[in-house]
Amino acid sequence: MMRRPIIDRELHEECGVFGVFGVPGAASLTYYGLHALQHRGQEGCGIVSVDDGQFRRTKGAGLVTEVFDEGKIAALKGDMAIGHVRYTTAGGGGSENIQPFLFRHNTGDFALAHNGNIVNSEQLRRYLENKGSLFHSTSDSEILAHLIKKETKYHDRPRIYSIVDALNMLEGAFSFLIMTANRIYACRDKYGLRPLSIARLGGGYVVSSETCAFDVLGAEFVRDVEPGEIVTIDRHGLRSSDYSKYKRHQMCAMEYIYFARPDSDIEGCNVHAYRKESGRLLWREAPAEADIVVGVPDSSLSAAMGYAEASGLPYEMGLIKNKYIGRTFIQPSQELREKGVRMKLSAVRTIVRGKRVVLVDDSIVRGTTSRRIVAMLREAGATAVHVRIASPPMTHPCFYGVDTSTYDELISARKNPEEVCAEIGADSLVFLSEKALYEAGHHEELCTACFTGRYPTALYSSVETANKTKN
Ligand code: SF4
Repeated sequence: MMRRPIIDRELHEECGVFGVFGVPGAASLTYYGLHALQHRGQEGCGIVSVDDGQFRRTKGAGLVTEVFDEGKIAALKGDMAIGHVRYTTAGGGGSENIQPFLFRHNTGDFALAHNGNIVNSEQLRRYLENKGSLFHSTSDSEILAHLIKKETKYHDRPRIYSIVDALNMLEGAFSFLIMTANRIYACRDKYGLRPLSIARLGGGYVVSSETCAFDVLGAEFVRDVEPGEIVTIDRHGLRSSDYSKYKRHQMCAMEYIYFARPDSDIEGCNVHAYRKESGRLLWREAPAEADIVVGVPDSSLSAAMGYAEASGLPYEMGLIKNKYIGRTFIQPSQELREKGVRMKLSAVRTIVRGKRVVLVDDSIVRGTTSRRIVAMLREAGATAVHVRIASPPMTHPCFYGVDTSTYDELISARKNPEEVCAEIGADSLVFLSEKALYEAGHHEELCTACFTGRYPTALYSSVETANKTKN
């Protein structure tokens, strides 16, 4: 039986999308692109390619390297492809929910891949089912396809109009790739909650949730898809149209803090540089009397470097992560863990022994991971552990594609920082201010709803579910 790792990522995002237009061997490029986006979802993945109007698809549960081999990639012929990596939250983990989705229709087949979460999905699903739609999956991403098909049933008009109408019915966070027989549409929600960027490769284009995938392929960054924009990519090049006049730049702050790879640039800001600056600001707001600075691998290392640089304290590798634990690794039993068997993360005894440690982490969600790490450092001989968090207390659930959808999952929704400090067993605990989140990236606007409760969209029934769990 597979057991939970002793130190797991406490937060998961749902997905990453990647697409190629006009480059031979598109499926193989998509494979490498998805591999670079693997941190955004490890539970399932898929690729759909188009060759001379014929759509082919391979998908399955597991990592990109587990689902695909050379034979499967070679079978996905064509110079157009879209792909998807998935972490399961909304809709559940059945194989029918693994994307891209592929739809056969008399107006032309199309494939679809989605990153994000639709907050009015329940209402739209009911509306569509009442109109006769039959859903193949429980994923909210399929709703867009039904909305597009509903429109095309009645209008003999270019598909872009149906896409515009369909997108205007959706509320929430999304980056969509829609692939027809001869073009790819790249669409981003009007709040700009999830990233989506375009690059040039050879005579064609690639589209990705994160720019780190462009560097892997040697693609040249062109631009981000703007909030509320649909970019059509076909043999004429790139064409832009707006599906909404209402546009905001409310990028998810957690993309910078935690989700994205440090070598990605999001809306012109490098993720590593953002995290390092947040670490500097964290020291300015919460200096600690200590001997060394230690970051929690991997997403907190940049912030720890910034904290160390600003404070003048040495940055040390006090924690080491074992990178070679796959999904199928047999995790130690409770009994073995109690005996000290720790597979995922270890404290480096010779570094932390006798030292007062500043432990920098990106966020606290449930608090269980922080408690284990603090205890681990003390067992390894640290004389004090001062925890500094490079984000504010997470007090509200996220409804935009991150797996914190209830208040119960969040320790800071129930306890103040002093109580959290006692719960995790630290000598002191300070969180970064909200103001510093904007300052770190020179941003005037971000989604910070999980820290502030100021949600950029209407929430429909999602908030009822969260409150039910709260009461
Ligand atoms: S609520 Fe938090 S995690 Fe969700 S999109 Fe906003 S900033 Fe990101």
